[in-house]
Amino acid sequence: MSENNSNQPTTGADPGATNSASDSTVSATAGSTAPKRPIPPRSLETKLIHFNGSVDPTTGASSVPIYQASTFHQDDILNPPQHDYSRSGNPTRQALEDYIAVLEGGARGFAFASGMAAISTAFLLLSAGEHVIVTEDVYGGTYRLLTTVLNRLNIEISFVDMTDLAQVKAALRPNTRAVYMETPSNPTLKITDIHAVTEWAKEHHLLTMLDNTFMTPYYQRPIELGVDIVLHSATKFLGGHSDVLAGLAVTRTLELGKQLKHLQNGLGTVLGPQDSWLLMRGMKTLAARMSHSEKSTARIAEWLQTRSDIEAIYYPGLSTHPGHEIHTSQSTGYGSVISFDVGSGERAKQVLDRVQLPIVAVSLGAVESILSYPPTMSHAAMGATVRAERGITDGLLRLSVGLEDVEDLIADLEQALD
Ligand SMILES: *Cc1c(COP(=O)(O)O)cnc(C)c1O
Repeated sequence: MSENNSNQPTTGADPGATNSASDSTVSATAGSTAPKRPIPPRSLETKLIHFNGSVDPTTGASSVPIYQASTFHQDDILNPPQHDYSRSGNPTRQALEDYIAVLEGGARGFAFASGMAAISTAFLLLSAGEHVIVTEDVYGGTYRLLTTVLNRLNIEISFVDMTDLAQVKAALRPNTRAVYMETPSNPTLKITDIHAVTEWAKEHHLLTMLDNTFMTPYYQRPIELGVDIVLHSATKFLGGHSDVLAGLAVTRTLELGKQLKHLQNGLGTVLGPQDSWLLMRGMKTLAARMSHSEKSTARIAEWLQTRSDIEAIYYPGLSTHPGHEIHTSQSTGYGSVISFDVGSGERAKQVLDRVQLPIVAVSLGAVESILSYPPTMSHAAMGATVRAERGITDGLLRLSVGLEDVEDLIADLEQALD
């Protein structure tokens, strides 16, 4: 897959923010009165390394300091400083928020205590009596939020198979306010046509949201395809090291940014400064990690295809995947999550017991490979019949491919299967 990640530098940063999400490395020219030279378009790989906050403008330190402070001294109460209280704004978190806004090509970025904190905050843009159309194989935590929390607030939900635009259209009601997508979805990697859904949603003045956790902006930038709000569990690929829980959101417009900021501040669902710093630390290597893991995943998919004891393989990089063409048209890569069916629950348990390299755990997107068992882990809350309908069979395993040597991984899976 080509790694054509070049996109135009974003100019959508909030002009009111001191740390504007502009593409320039301000640190290099901080304090200088020389006119800024125009900056040529930069690829995502470069933006991952050079961003506001990648160098501290005060000291030249090679990373933004951790501002471990809850409040800020006000020299002149009539002219309050940019930051007054860390729930409302913290310079370390601000650097991260500007960073993700640039990467996704949006107007404003926001950092939250977890992916679910980001998602629940975004859903509170909706009011009682409004209706939202949601992809049926949405992340389990999002499903729980919708069906056990937001339902109590009289927010109506329709779950539809988003691989089929006709089903999305048929779910429209007079009170429909939003469409919520997740592509590729979990664990069978179903693909939604992002542009088709957003075009239709715009005709009906619906807000569109998309969980971009599996692809990250390295492979997929939904705002460029018309989406209004992009959400992330940054706990996964963006953080990349299974050591920080975090969520991110990016809005397409400043106006939506203002609304989300109001909710983030009002609910207090913010990410702390230490975790903000650690997340940026991980994100700098996103391109290297994603491209390495994707190559290994393609190799593992190829190897799984040669085995007669594998009942099904789900990976959008395979030309046999039903969403392969649409995915290829909207993303620059296929990522490194692959699911496969080993035939039975017994056999799946055998593999889980015997593997030595991948950790057996929930979560994904880390330097170490992670093998999960959706029926008892991510999708345990779903009844057996619903699971079966969605292809989450008893023999299904989900592998998030890390940075180990791929031939070592294959040898390990081979001994576990045989
Ligand atoms: C993990 C995950 C979430 C939830 O994120 P947390 O950081 O665990 O709160 C949301 N969406 C997807 C696709 C995920 O994989």
